[in-house]
Amino acid sequence: MADLLEVSALTKRFGGLVAVNNVSFSVREKEILSVIGPNGAGKSTLFKLISSFLRPTSGQVRLKGERISDLAPHIAARKGVVRTFQETTIFKNMSVRENVIIAHHLRSTASLIGFFLGTGTAKADEAAFGASADDILELLGLSSLAGEIARNLPHGHLRALGIAIGLATNPSILLLDEPFAGMNHDETMRMVAMVKRLRELGLTILLVEHDMPAVMKISDRIVVLNFGEKIAEGTPAQIQNNDKVIEAYLGS
Ligand code: ADP
Ligand code: MG
Repeated sequence: MADLLEVSALTKRFGGLVAVNNVSFSVREKEILSVIGPNGAGKSTLFKLISSFLRPTSGQVRLKGERISDLAPHIAARKGVVRTFQETTIFKNMSVRENVIIAHHLRSTASLIGFFLGTGTAKADEAAFGASADDILELLGLSSLAGEIARNLPHGHLRALGIAIGLATNPSILLLDEPFAGMNHDETMRMVAMVKRLRELGLTILLVEHDMPAVMKISDRIVVLNFGEKIAEGTPAQIQNNDKVIEAYLGS
């Protein structure tokens, strides 16, 4: 499979601290690649560098060969590197379905104002996007909640809505930031199945995660960070038996 996203010698310093140190790896098309590592390993910083929320001190990130690490986050998102939306980005007073439709507008740069005003253009767009929005809701198990006001959703469904919004912007690669955090076993298994389904549909997924068992179940490949450096890369079986990885986790 071709490489979709390339991370090359990526480094981020905060003053004297090197949070991400000369990290390189690639994400292949249609794979699920997870980045794991103990607390403070640099996962969140790496995630922000890849989604262009932070600028690297040195090194770069390329999407389909094009350098994206100097772009503003919304431009990177428009190019197809989309991180899931946090609860703060969800319009809590709107319905689940409206949130997904708005995300389509953000990507298409169709008039958001038009959407709110209910003008002709916005209505036509809504109709055009309707089927796709419904497909996304279905995929994330949100169909029966489509008319529900977002603020009333239980936590797990709210997280699913964050992913639905990301999907609605039609990403090339979806970045998931700790998708299993705070989830119980059943919720985690549902999320694992759902992410796998997205990959089957052709999506490429990069996730940063702490939950080791879930990562082992879901990933095609895993990159392990420790103190900002990549210490291992491989299949779940390879990572599970890697001495450096075991040591890093035991030490944490
Ligand atoms: P992880 O997500 O793996 O727990 P982080 O990327 O959050 O790790 O942090 C890596 C290191 O960088 C930590 O030592 C953290 O304290 C430091 N760090 C992260 N963000 C900042 C920042 N904005 N300013 C200074 N230090 C930071
Ligand atoms: Mg973190």
